[in-house]
Amino acid sequence: MTDIAIAIAGCTGRMGRALVDAVLAQEDAALTAATARPGTPAAGHPLRDGRGADTGVVVSDDPNALFAADVVIDFTEPESTAVHAQLAARTGTALVIGTTGLSRAQQEAIYAAGRQTPICQAANFSLGVNLLKALVARAAAALPESFDIEILEMHHRHKVDAPSGTALALGEAAAAARGADFEAVARRTRDGQVGPRPAGEIGFATLRGGDVAGEHAAIFAGPEERLELSHKAASRAIFARGAVTAAFWLADKSAGLYSMDDVLGLA
Ligand code: NAD
Repeated sequence: MTDIAIAIAGCTGRMGRALVDAVLAQEDAALTAATARPGTPAAGHPLRDGRGADTGVVVSDDPNALFAADVVIDFTEPESTAVHAQLAARTGTALVIGTTGLSRAQQEAIYAAGRQTPICQAANFSLGVNLLKALVARAAAALPESFDIEILEMHHRHKVDAPSGTALALGEAAAAARGADFEAVARRTRDGQVGPRPAGEIGFATLRGGDVAGEHAAIFAGPEERLELSHKAASRAIFARGAVTAAFWLADKSAGLYSMDDVLGLA
């Protein structure tokens, strides 16, 4: 079997470094290109793996360098992800997107690109969280509205978007299972004299600190009982491995916007 050529956008980031190691760990994948933010001092230098060994790839700051690969994996920032989606569409390259915190316009750019090239986008590439999403939907559908739904998340101090994309995805899954319009029922923050909790609301609480890779819980608080479903990521390697699994799965797909549910057969 021919190796699948994978390129990594944002290779110097926290997820980028985990992705480099995850791709190199695959015998039937070749890491063919890697980029970092335009103007980065890393550009032109050898890309090193987690143990400091030369990967044989030179870091580029030109996004076009990514799109000769079979699949590009992008865990960067919303602005650059929207640009990468346009380049993927233009070149017909498969794209795995893990970046979160996209604006509506940036998400529209992903939808448009997905009509021309295969894209797998997920707020969370771990097996456990995708199963958690399915379990949250099941619980939301089974429990009456007298059970209040709250989504709790904690991440490391460097995370820039809140609530996390995963927390929002869990809330969306719960709202959809209840037949509710997510934007109408979501309460992303609370502060001050907010009054009693309206029925049907889906609340979010965001914690930040230390080096927490990602923790999520969905709480169903009902009369005299409470159900809690939770997931804890011990390291970023689980997201990186999931993204590489998605890259292999995506490589022979036709144009379309896919999710990790599709990759894992949970759809
Ligand atoms: P980070 O800040 O450590 O890394 C982002 C990297 O992107 C930086 O190194 C930055 O230089 C680089 N970058 C910015 N613009 C670029 C460009 N135009 N070209 C190439 N590189 C560029 O952040 P992180 O912790 O690695 O997270 C990255 C994203 O992935 C965030 O949106 C985060 O929420 C998301 N994330 C998703 C999952 C998931 O499973 N979907 C898991 C963890 C993190």
